[in-house]
Amino acid sequence: MIILLKRGADKKDIESLRADLTARGFSLHESTGTTESLIGVVGDTSILDQSTIEARACVEQVTRIAEPYKKVNRKMHPENTVIDVRGHKFGNGSLQIIAGPCSVETEEQIMTTARAVKAAGATMLRGGAFKPRTSPYAFQGLEAEGIKLLLQAREETGLPIVTEIMAEDDLPLFEDIDVIQVGARNMQNFKLLKALGKLHKPILLKRGLANTIEELLMSAEYISAGGNTDIILCERGIRTFETMTRNTLDISAVSLLKQKSHLPVCADPSHATGILSLIEPMSLSLIVAGADALEIEVHCTPTRALSDGGQQLTPEAFSSLMDNIKKMAEFLGREIG
Ligand code: PEP
Ligand code: MN
Repeated sequence: MIILLKRGADKKDIESLRADLTARGFSLHESTGTTESLIGVVGDTSILDQSTIEARACVEQVTRIAEPYKKVNRKMHPENTVIDVRGHKFGNGSLQIIAGPCSVETEEQIMTTARAVKAAGATMLRGGAFKPRTSPYAFQGLEAEGIKLLLQAREETGLPIVTEIMAEDDLPLFEDIDVIQVGARNMQNFKLLKALGKLHKPILLKRGLANTIEELLMSAEYISAGGNTDIILCERGIRTFETMTRNTLDISAVSLLKQKSHLPVCADPSHATGILSLIEPMSLSLIVAGADALEIEVHCTPTRALSDGGQQLTPEAFSSLMDNIKKMAEFLGREIG
């Protein structure tokens, strides 16, 4: 961290700043020029609050040099983190395809969809039992019953289950779930993130609707700081001024996250675009960008879906998408599974 001092700042104020920083264990490297004077602060500056230092009368500006995230930073951990979910690995170069409906609706719906995505080559099953809906009058999910149906689908198909948690109180219901998803709307629910940090279970952390890449990494840092390092980051599109797509898919975030962090990265072209015809080109692009996994919505009868009907692929469309995903994976020398 570099502190630029104000010209003509009071010497006593500067001395008090120095004393406070050295008392907290930082070493200081000062440089006094004819026009500017700087203090370089060396140590774990992630614990320092930039605005509190800037509030001092002698300080002109504070610049962070080191990223505020440590545990999830590739600089601290150059090797990829590899997460094993029932033998399927994230982060070792293989590609995981997580497919299934937006919401778990009925036994028949989830079982039919699970069988279809398995037959097409998906490696995991998704489905929301707890649904974060914009309207309180919209379908809210089957909750505990939905979790039960997902486990029944795993029992038959062998596909590991990825499903979203909305509240810490529901954690006991997720004991047998393979990957707990934190949805975009909860990316900065810090109490929930801290609770997930205490688990020994993989977490799929989706980027918030209006959150920066650094904020996503800081949310992963919350989970990691608690001791749970099995985190899969997920790009799912962000809000921009564009209205033709549901969100704007930030493909560059996938490649950048892989560079900045050692954690595996997933991408969700369904919520990112909301447009059926874009799911295939975006899926293929995301694989090229380096995604370790894709999360894609598939419903046995999308026209009867209780949520996100317009963006869910039919089993036939998913099967044809999988044919091209397989070709792309083969071209890039990546294994699916
Ligand atoms: C979902 O995956 O079901 C979902 C609600 O996605 P997001 O949190 O990205 O909107
Ligand atoms: Mn959905």
